[in-house]
Amino acid sequence: MTPLMRQYWDIKALHQDKVLMFRMGDFFEMFFDDAVKAAPILGIALTQRNKKSADETPMCGMPHHSIAGPINKLLKQGLKVAICDQIEDPKLAKGLVKRAVTRVLTPGMVYDPETLDQTLANYIACVEDGALACVDTSTGEAFYFENLQSTDLERLFEVLPIVELVLATGAVRPSYFDGLVSLGSDLAELRAPKAARRLWSYMQSLSGEELLKTMKPFEERRLEARLDLSSIVLRHLEIFGTYRGEGEGSLFHAIDRTKTSAGARLLRQWMSFPLTTPAEIEKRWNDLENWTVSLAKLKLVREQLANMGDIERRLSKISQSTCNGRDLQALAASVRAGLQALASAGRVVSAQVRDLELISDEIEKTIVAEPPLAVRQGHLIQKGLWPELDELIELSTNSQASLQKMENEEKEKTGISSLKIRYNSVFGYYIEITNTHKDKVPSHYLRKQTLANAERYCTDELIELEKKVLSADSKRNDLEYEIFERLRQKCLSHGHVLLQLAGQASELDVLTSLAWLAVERKYNRPEFSKNGELILEGSRHAVVEQTVKTPFVPNDIRLSPGGCLLLTGPNMAGKSTIMRQVALSVILAQMGSFVPASRAVLPIFDHIFTRIGASDHLSEGLSTFMVEMTETAEMLRKATSKSLLILDEIGRGTSTFDGMSLAQAILEHLLSDLKATALFATHYHELTTLAETYSQLQNAHMSVAEKNGEIRFMHTLTAGPALKSYGIQVAKLAGLPSTVTARAQSLLKKLEKEKLSATSQLSLLDFTDKMDIPSGLKGLEKRDEAKVLRVEHEELLESLKGFAIAQATPLEALNSIAQWQKTLSQTQGPTASPTLE
Ligand code: ATP
Repeated sequence: MTPLMRQYWDIKALHQDKVLMFRMGDFFEMFFDDAVKAAPILGIALTQRNKKSADETPMCGMPHHSIAGPINKLLKQGLKVAICDQIEDPKLAKGLVKRAVTRVLTPGMVYDPETLDQTLANYIACVEDGALACVDTSTGEAFYFENLQSTDLERLFEVLPIVELVLATGAVRPSYFDGLVSLGSDLAELRAPKAARRLWSYMQSLSGEELLKTMKPFEERRLEARLDLSSIVLRHLEIFGTYRGEGEGSLFHAIDRTKTSAGARLLRQWMSFPLTTPAEIEKRWNDLENWTVSLAKLKLVREQLANMGDIERRLSKISQSTCNGRDLQALAASVRAGLQALASAGRVVSAQVRDLELISDEIEKTIVAEPPLAVRQGHLIQKGLWPELDELIELSTNSQASLQKMENEEKEKTGISSLKIRYNSVFGYYIEITNTHKDKVPSHYLRKQTLANAERYCTDELIELEKKVLSADSKRNDLEYEIFERLRQKCLSHGHVLLQLAGQASELDVLTSLAWLAVERKYNRPEFSKNGELILEGSRHAVVEQTVKTPFVPNDIRLSPGGCLLLTGPNMAGKSTIMRQVALSVILAQMGSFVPASRAVLPIFDHIFTRIGASDHLSEGLSTFMVEMTETAEMLRKATSKSLLILDEIGRGTSTFDGMSLAQAILEHLLSDLKATALFATHYHELTTLAETYSQLQNAHMSVAEKNGEIRFMHTLTAGPALKSYGIQVAKLAGLPSTVTARAQSLLKKLEKEKLSATSQLSLLDFTDKMDIPSGLKGLEKRDEAKVLRVEHEELLESLKGFAIAQATPLEALNSIAQWQKTLSQTQGPTASPTLE
């Protein structure tokens, strides 16, 4: 084995679970299995180390300056990557260059934060003892939730962009976890849960102390005071992405007016976790209101924020040795813009934050106006600050002038006008003379290298000068790097204060962006409803109003406390739109925004539930109908009188009579038991007669104008049930062959004659099979309260049925009976004495 390969194996032995990228000259190489695994993922050629010899070591590699993209590809495939760099200058190395792993990369330990989606966080999470801790190493965000139920965890995992999970291995404890003593003092003070401590140790073990300097202290977050939105709701309401997975068309896309990426990330957070505490909501509304009446100031602050850049992600880059002069300059500019914006906004900042200006000054004074990308090759630090550096610069530029002088003199002496003095890293300085002038070369020229059309020489004088130039150059490079590194460390030591500034500026960005949105799109400040009534006047759908080609028709919606709006009417009339716009307005209001309505009086909801359309879970082994029912079951189990429920065409995925029966039963449960505020759209017109029994049920429909069999959608919400479904007319509009629509028309007539509801969603199959129509559905049966079992009673019956008498002790049996009695007595009400048939 060559010494190089021995070095490789020594390092690889410590990183067997990672792809090792091994620096050799200007390349990062991968060998053996790593190369075989990585080459197809990266789409690069797999070669052999020494093609002609017997050494068949498979290898592949890439230039050292372009590894960010390939690393991301490997991480996406679930691989970890270890970067093994040369840790000494190869020119100065005696023998084999020293190498060591300088970074370990995982999906959450990002190589280059600029390759991430700028508006999305990138969390590493850890769950332990009912706590979930998350960190984003690219922004410094660190927080935890404690005392979580498994459903809370599920929700958080669905809503938070978690890219990596750190798990306790139990028996095999990673060694880095033992050293808890070395945790930051912030953490100790916070008494953060174990999950947070583990993440801290994990980061420390992979990236060392420098990264920790760019992390905010762990902050405790609580779910209690937040509007509960599950990932299903976020998906149904297309909050962050459409059904097709596109950002455009989502609520986030429609309302995002932020000027900074950090602001956009915070806006996402506000949208994922809207508030439920009136004072907190009102504080944001007050702020927005102040901004909407100071337009000139609002414009100025937004212009200043636009110059700010992303301090959080820049700082994470600065914590890595790959950062360069431009990163520091960008940080300086961001700090200035951020401080300016906060000052213009009249925000109070701490003295420490204000003093960040001094760091900006220092960076701007130290780094040259247009710094190179490399930090070890000089030309990075301004002249006039360090006399020692100035001297070296003088020497190195003078030597350059001496070289130029020598070139001119040699040209003159030899009479060769094309003679030139050049430099390369292998041969150093040389005189190059083309073959046409070969005969004029003086005898004291020493030949160094032969090219196809030229010869390269050196002279004693040139060798002497080379020594001077190189030593001045290398001293200058070293000193400049040292100054740069000191400055970088200084920025890192102010990491926490920089993150404070970033936090204040992103909050300002979100508030001013929402104010701008309110002005731009005529949103208005909502009021809290005192009695639980919901009023939206001139209400619009925040997204559809921006995308629809014809002018959007605003609507008035009024729902009494615990009221339910039963929407009927044809397809395409705007039922889904109006239901969603109510939910979106609630989310907007509770996250602190104004709403797209001329007047809004809204209760504070604890939970929004949606049951909308067919979401495809086939890959999870669930049929469309099963998904529909699972989601409905969850809704009925969890909803309270303070929840908002959106149910769009429940019971559609099964036969008409099954579906209609389910829809009616669910609606009745909503009205008599849950008493939540609800919007319920249906094609089962039979349900509209329930308004006679339940006073809080309001029938409404989206109106349609019909002329000579042609229909026009008016998009206006009108009181009362729809008279017709217009299904066949809509099918005509959609371009169904006329033979099909004509046949449908004649079938419809026949059915209407049979006095069956033509507006039910009947399939032809249902009809040919209509012999066994349940008698109850021929006239709509009213709910027999006594026969309806509460969910709790059903669960009670289940546990009674499943009670293992043979295995139970008398005490266990008595306890169970006591528990059942307790359940029964707690659920007293109209349905409290179920007939346990
Ligand atoms: P389906 O029952 O087929 O789902 P629907 O009654 O729910 O239909 P929507 O999907 O809400 O109908 O609306 C259909 C289209 O009508 C929307 O995509 C939108 O372009 C337009 N629309 C809805 N409401 C309005 C409105 N208030 N003003 C203008 N256009 C509207």
